Amino acid sequence: MRYQYQPLNLVEFFSAFPTQEACEYHLIRVRWPKGMVCSKCGKEAIYGRIHLRRAYQCRSCRHFNYPTAGTIFHKTRTSLQRWFLAIFLIASDKRGLSALHLSKQIRVDYKTAWAMLQRIRHAMAKRDAQYKLSGSVELDEMFIGASTEGKKRGRGTEQTPVLVAVSFVSGKKEKEYMGFAKMRAVKKINKETVLKFANDTVEHGSRVRSDGLRVYLTLEKYGFAHEPLTIKKRKAHIMLPHVHTYISNLRSFVMGTFHGLDETHIQHYLDEFCYRFNRRKRYPELFDRLLLACLEKGEIPFPALTP
Ligand SMILES: [Zn+2]
Repeated sequence: MRYQYQPLNLVEFFSAFPTQEACEYHLIRVRWPKGMVCSKCGKEAIYGRIHLRRAYQCRSCRHFNYPTAGTIFHKTRTSLQRWFLAIFLIASDKRGLSALHLSKQIRVDYKTAWAMLQRIRHAMAKRDAQYKLSGSVELDEMFIGASTEGKKRGRGTEQTPVLVAVSFVSGKKEKEYMGFAKMRAVKKINKETVLKFANDTVEHGSRVRSDGLRVYLTLEKYGFAHEPLTIKKRKAHIMLPHVHTYISNLRSFVMGTFHGLDETHIQHYLDEFCYRFNRRKRYPELFDRLLLACLEKGEIPFPALTP
């Protein structure tokens, strides 16, 4: 049976998920639409729930199965209902939720809320990494971060370069529409980082439009139809309109959040922004889609969240 997406508001959320068990049943239904399968004997056995262990015992081989095993929820002390509520709040908030706000809303300490957000952002990134951009793509770079005077990364302005790719499709009367986006924070912009970014995020054979800087010229040799445009600085938004619209949206989204962050942490924010942008037309489905992404993302131990 195909799972049906349902848009939710807060009242519907609590009537759909009033208890830990209700969340667990929903998780099982989404993860195993044809019925839960025993991880040991592989049978679709009938299960008995072991209340205190959050486990289901297989009637065939007596093995304990944990519905959250292999998901980001596993081995965390936070209840499944809090996790569901966090996902709901993150999916409903178009501007992105801070760890502080989340910690107050679901009554967990800041560190727990921060780790939950990080885990969910990891799940978003993994989900988006399954798709590559194709067709026509604009490629450009931007710099984010603020002055870090007095901070440990040195004096002056320390900004992180970010590579941005936005796909677009042509409509009637030569109109073009934005499709999907990818971003990567890098240490520096050079031929290697551009090529790796393009290889990882854009299908070979795609038509890539850029401002013609030397670092982009290599793309032609590696299976991309590259269209360099010579751009005077102030005309960039006209020649590469999609990538520039996208970048200005990003700037108004969470620029304040980037102060003093290194590129690994910046990447998590970029992943979240990309994930939301790439599903902007599927906003009512976001809770279900995000839940599914979290189920597919494996367990992440806490130390792995703070590289
Ligand atoms: Zn079994």
